[in-house]
Amino acid sequence: MPPKKVVIIGAGITGALLAHRLLEEGADVTVLEAREKGAGSSSRSAACSRQQFSTPATVRAMVYATRSYERFAEDFRCEPGQGQVLVQNGYLFLYNADDPAAWATAQQQVAMQRANGLHDVEVLRPGDVAERFPQAAAESLVGATFCATDGFLHPDVVYMEGFRRVEELGGVLRQNAQVVGGTTANGRLVAVQTAAGEEFRGDVFVNATNAWAPRVSHLLGGTELPISPVKRYLYFLDRGDQLDDRALMTWPMTITPSRAYCRPENADQLLAGWAHHADPEPAFDWGDQDLIDAHFFHKTGLDNYGFQLWMQLAEALPVTAEFAGIQATTAGFYAVTPDHNPLFGWDPKLPGLVHAAGFSGHGAMLGPFSAAAVAALVLAGRDLPAVVVDGVEVDLRPLRVDRAFDHSEGMVI
Ligand SMILES: Cc1cc2nc3c(=O)[nH]c(=O)nc-3n(C[C@H](O)[C@H](O)[C@H](O)COP(=O)(O)OP(=O)(O)OC[C@H]3O[C@@H](n4cnc5c(N)ncnc54)[C@H](O)[C@@H]3O)c2cc1C
Repeated sequence: MPPKKVVIIGAGITGALLAHRLLEEGADVTVLEAREKGAGSSSRSAACSRQQFSTPATVRAMVYATRSYERFAEDFRCEPGQGQVLVQNGYLFLYNADDPAAWATAQQQVAMQRANGLHDVEVLRPGDVAERFPQAAAESLVGATFCATDGFLHPDVVYMEGFRRVEELGGVLRQNAQVVGGTTANGRLVAVQTAAGEEFRGDVFVNATNAWAPRVSHLLGGTELPISPVKRYLYFLDRGDQLDDRALMTWPMTITPSRAYCRPENADQLLAGWAHHADPEPAFDWGDQDLIDAHFFHKTGLDNYGFQLWMQLAEALPVTAEFAGIQATTAGFYAVTPDHNPLFGWDPKLPGLVHAAGFSGHGAMLGPFSAAAVAALVLAGRDLPAVVVDGVEVDLRPLRVDRAFDHSEGMVI
């Protein structure tokens, strides 16, 4: 018998899209959120969206997620002019001539991506880059890859419109409802309790708390999840009087050879980021999400990380060297797994509990696929080897909770 009542813990993009999917499948859905919707990584995300991955299952999943975000306004019955969640400016990976190994791998990955249904991805020579993206310094490049249907999301629109539609469909969203414990019967999770003392019973519980997921699994009696909360920073770079009013908005998301990245935030600002070593913070609290270490804060001198990042951008995109300055630094947590792929599946130790967490920096873009895959697992009542989305089979084995973590996603940003 398919489960009637599903309780989702966590009201970010994953919780919103999964609740919608399960309601459409006829389930009775309640979402419990400790703070307010979007209180986690979903409101702090760079929200870039790409199909260019190195894991075949993720390429297929992202082709589906991209098509889903393209039809979001229609699927979520948004008012005219609302619900445009995806900006498809494309995604440009630049490769320098001094790293032929990276370039060889990139070209092999394009062949694999095409074989897995990503037909929009192109291999560009330096001359093509110079012609199509004059902001890029093409002379030091050996080549680039570009996918025009990639881009970035408006994550706030995803979860705000997502929960509007969830409530229209009869789903319940309870905010300020932090789950603090669970009750089992015959070894199966049958209820959770909130900090306010309320109890919510259900047939299945989904842990959609991402960076908090190990803690939530632990307090419910579930398995130990290999997810590390790791701080990541974003910088907002103002163009000043460089470029004209419309130029920035046409730039693709650009990944420089050093893997510093940027995309337009609005007509005047680039959003930029760059991965760095950071120790996991397993005991972080909600307020810690916005704490900015002095070494990373743009107001603490010219030797901080934001300025190092700006120099990387300036090498790859010379006009940015003349930009007016960094206006803001923001932060949030990635929920990192050992192989940089999320965990989708039934808890191996606690029947009744399903996990959808550990997105490792790509959970916003993956949202529609996460919803489709996890809804299929919930409704099946067991783990599945694959799921079919838009007629395409996607292997779920690389995402199982109890996998060996022996094949890492190579395109991590
Ligand atoms: C700086 C940064 C840049 C990023 N860039 C990208 C990007 O370019 N592209 C991309 O796709 N992704 C990116 N990500 C990752 C992406 O934002 C996340 O993977 C995604 O938002 C995860 O959504 P979620 O709904 O699973 O989790 P979250 O949005 O984190 O939601 C989890 C929710 O669970 C709630 N919660 C926690 N504990 C409890 C409890 N005990 N009871 C009830 N509720 C609880 C939290 O309050 C929170 O609202 C980035 C993240 C950061 C921080």
